[in-house]
Amino acid sequence: MAAVSRVLRRAGARRAFSAEPAPAYASERINAATAPTLMEIGCRDIFDEDHDAFRQMCRDFFANEVKPFHKEWEKAGEVPRELWTKAGDLGLLACMVPEAYGGLGTDCRFPAVVWEEQSYSGCTGPGFAMHSDIVAPYITNYGTEEQKQRILPKLVSGEWIGALGMTEPSAGSDFANIKTTAVKDGDDYVINGSKVFITNGWMQRRATGVFFLVNFA
Ligand SMILES: Cc1cc2nc3c(=O)[nH]c(=O)nc-3n(C[C@H](O)[C@H](O)[C@H](O)COP(=O)(O)OP(=O)(O)OC[C@H]3O[C@@H](n4cnc5c(N)ncnc54)[C@H](O)[C@@H]3O)c2cc1C
Repeated sequence: MAAVSRVLRRAGARRAFSAEPAPAYASERINAATAPTLMEIGCRDIFDEDHDAFRQMCRDFFANEVKPFHKEWEKAGEVPRELWTKAGDLGLLACMVPEAYGGLGTDCRFPAVVWEEQSYSGCTGPGFAMHSDIVAPYITNYGTEEQKQRILPKLVSGEWIGALGMTEPSAGSDFANIKTTAVKDGDDYVINGSKVFITNGWMQRRATGVFFLVNFA
């Protein structure tokens, strides 16, 4: 995982500029039962020191780049577009995307660390999980080679924001009732219908990357 090492080196460099001393990540895990809280970096056997360094970077990111501004963003009803490219720059988005498509090619524990750290920060605004752990895996696992090359690097960098439009006013759990249609028109499809409750849907006016569940007509 050469790309992960690069990100972790960057995490180390980031800390070198921080006033706090860089923590020593140990391969010996802190026993979870004796840790002051499960948020303690270095506890839980499923993680190792690479996850710890990555976790520290995520924790700093949410503490410095998100938490201080979150109330403001709640009022505005959206997070700034630049937050996504900052997160992408640090390797926080779609970590599991293979290196061949610009990702870090990590195991599933790295995105779990991002989820946990966002939850610990109490900041619900950025829809990173939908983007990274639902949309990107769909493209990775079911996309054509052309789609993977075109879409995945942009999801990793945060240039595009992923959203998934499944729910409709008359189709929540009941996907068989979906009314939205995609009709072939030359090289394009014309999509007609209504979608509701779409995480990151609002961000689509400022970025590309919404995927729809449709009936092909
Ligand atoms: C914060 C948030 C973010 C969301 N983000 C997205 C998104 O990004 N993209 C997207 O497409 N959708 C999104 N949704 C929509 C979400 O996926 C739907 O709310 C969900 O599919 C349920 O649909 P519904 O609300 O219409 O409930 P309904 O389908 O009307 O269900 C109502 C209740 O009936 C129960 N029920 C339904 N069918 C059956 C059955 N056959 N047997 C027994 N019980 C049943 C359900 O469990 C539920 O308790 C989001 C919702 C929320 C709250």
